[in-house]
Amino acid sequence: MLAERCDYPIHLGLTESGTLERGLVKSSAGIGSLLLDGIGDTVRVSLTEDPVKEVDAARQIFNALGLEGQSGLKLICCPTCGRTRIDLISLSHRFDSAIRAEGLERVPVTVALMGCIVNGPGEAREADFGIAGGVGEALFFRHGEPDRKIAESEILPVLLDEIRKAISKTE
Ligand code: SF4
Repeated sequence: MLAERCDYPIHLGLTESGTLERGLVKSSAGIGSLLLDGIGDTVRVSLTEDPVKEVDAARQIFNALGLEGQSGLKLICCPTCGRTRIDLISLSHRFDSAIRAEGLERVPVTVALMGCIVNGPGEAREADFGIAGGVGEALFFRHGEPDRKIAESEILPVLLDEIRKAISKTE
């Protein structure tokens, strides 16, 4: 109603939303629900954290809502279950840390980390780069096709290498 009555951009933000994890959940619910209703022109995520993490949090909200297009890295991880054959929780944390450390989160690729070869290949095929975990190894998928088996210790270096190569194609 307000947007119909004036030309001012509408700014969304939750002040004092808290520490990283709590603030991200609150901001996702508060800002995200309004954005999904088509309300909001600018956002500010306010966290008791380094301001760089506030910007990153806003990007994650846009990314999750599909509002950013594919302008950033999209990570799909399986939730793990009794079939999981690799240390997926550690791998996903190390992957996240590595892409942030290298500034690779802006590369517009989709990466899937899946824990088994029963249900993992489906998602891994849909991603630009994906892995489906086996015992001590993983099947690596590249642009929808199974590429090769790699040792579990090689998963992170192989994925990072592929993402770095993708930068030159997007520049
Ligand atoms: S992809 Fe495999 S390991 Fe991951 S949740 Fe699904 S069945 Fe379990």
